Amino acid sequence: MKKDVRKAIIAGNWKMNKTPSEAKALLAQMIPLVKDATCEVVACVPYVDLAAAVEATQGTNIKIGAENCHWAESGAFTGEISTGMLKEIGVEYVVLGHSERRQYFGETDETVNKRVKAALAAGLKPIVCVGELLWERECDITEEVVARQIKLDLFDVSEEELQNVVIAYEPVWAIGTGKTATADQAEEVCALIRATIKKLYSPAAAEGITIQYGGSMNDKNADELVGKLNVDGGLIGGASLVADKFAAIVNAASNN
Ligand code: PEP
Repeated sequence: MKKDVRKAIIAGNWKMNKTPSEAKALLAQMIPLVKDATCEVVACVPYVDLAAAVEATQGTNIKIGAENCHWAESGAFTGEISTGMLKEIGVEYVVLGHSERRQYFGETDETVNKRVKAALAAGLKPIVCVGELLWERECDITEEVVARQIKLDLFDVSEEELQNVVIAYEPVWAIGTGKTATADQAEEVCALIRATIKKLYSPAAAEGITIQYGGSMNDKNADELVGKLNVDGGLIGGASLVADKFAAIVNAASNN
């Protein structure tokens, strides 16, 4: 497997943080700090910040992503946002199946799969989050859990469509807890995910797909994590809200 056949992506997941004016200010700080990145740089921001974020990053190397989307094109889904709405304002990425959506908002692999297919059909790039609970790791079923999520979340996604899919391995016990998976743990599961993609699709699909690590990644541990062969960047929560920390992670990915 070769790391140089796929692009590392550092994506911030801002969660429910920053108003539109705060988003503009944070992006203005980030733009000069990440302008020479050789990895892809993405900021996934709350819905109401999206238009301001797209405008603020015009002509820069920062791409904008949403944190979720609905699968229907339109209709009676009060409070939801469609892929067409995101596309029209210039959004390129969308985080899907984040563990906080699974944990607090009833997201299932079935609904993740519907959202992934809708996002791809609209020309958005889904960042599909998978990962085990602490209890599942302790029961030694991480491999089954993650392989099952991959199979279900990508059900009926063609190999051609897969080229626009990013996978984020996010062990649930490491998200927002300050507990990071060791670089070896991250590498082991990212390699398992790549092996699952190889079985489901092909060796070329497995080599080409970007698999990020996410879970308390920061400016201090990023270098070791993204240095691993199967870790192609990261999905960053807390540290993506501080411009110089986020930029340090982007630099780590650019140098690896
Ligand atoms: C996330 O929200 O996807 C995440 C990885 O958060 P944190 O970096 O804060 O653990």
